[in-house]
Amino acid sequence: MNVVALSGGVGGARFVRGVADVLGGDDLTVIGNVGDDVEVLGLHVSPDLDSILYALAGLNDEERGWGRAGETWNALAAAAELGGEAWFRLGDRDLGLHLVRTQALAAGEPLSAVTARLARELGVTTRLVPATDDPLRTWLDTAAGSFPFQEWFVARGHADEVDAVRFEGGDSARPAPGSVEALDAADLMLIAPSNPYVSIWPILAVAGVRAALEARRVPAVAVSPLIGGRAVKGPADRMLRRLAGGTAPAHVTGCYQGLVDALVVDEADAEELDGLGDVRPIVTRTLMRDESARRALAEVALGAVAA
Ligand code: GDP
Ligand code: CA
Repeated sequence: MNVVALSGGVGGARFVRGVADVLGGDDLTVIGNVGDDVEVLGLHVSPDLDSILYALAGLNDEERGWGRAGETWNALAAAAELGGEAWFRLGDRDLGLHLVRTQALAAGEPLSAVTARLARELGVTTRLVPATDDPLRTWLDTAAGSFPFQEWFVARGHADEVDAVRFEGGDSARPAPGSVEALDAADLMLIAPSNPYVSIWPILAVAGVRAALEARRVPAVAVSPLIGGRAVKGPADRMLRRLAGGTAPAHVTGCYQGLVDALVVDEADAEELDGLGDVRPIVTRTLMRDESARRALAEVALGAVAA
């Protein structure tokens, strides 16, 4: 069975790890968000691709939720002592990856090729493809002004309420090699329990990717990032309340109109299933607190293909 999953960082990475564990990595392609990529200290950082890569390679820090396990912070501390920027946390081991990627990009290698190479070096058999090799950057419009994603999220602690989300470069971004081909060959399409607005929409901003989902002849299943109407972490619930008018399952599927056939929702939201229309709810426990919970959720999502 060929499966393609669209994924952001932390929530997405946990989920795709579960899917890879249940399915086998070879049968999975993950299309990762690059809207929150950022230049820090002259390095190209792709936070979501890296969260996915580290999770699939088993190198991620489960407690912190992002970055590598066993991390140290000497290089960043040294940079800060020298007046360098230190607002974006980069660990020593993590920096190794950013150095390799930045050098390859500077030498003209596309992001998708570098990403494939990094995955191979880490022994990851799942194909990880960025949504696009072209520049695509998420911007947030707020009452305090417009900010690039990381400035809003990290530097300002996502405290500003968001009035609109924009994707600079989205109109001209072409799908990265392998993404549309994987979608066309898929038996099942999955949307991870990621933030719809800032993790999945920037992927769907790539017209070719969106078109491949719209034209699907196989089921597409999204997993809600909300439990009891609340985000496990981050601003997804606040954004849904403000931009979609609520945090029920129907507000989540409203972000994916025409793109999903089923929504996996938590038991805590089972009383709130009105307004889903053609989208079939699948109720289960969705908190991925450990490996077995991750696998159980993946099994439910993968099971949608048989139903
Ligand atoms: P980011 O790119 O690091 O912000 O990560 P994502 O967008 O992929 O994931 C963030 C979303 O994951 C948040 O909205 C969380 O509510 C959701 N999330 C995190 N852990 C879980 C979990 O265990 N279960 C579910 N259902 N959602 C989760
Ligand atoms: Ca992200």
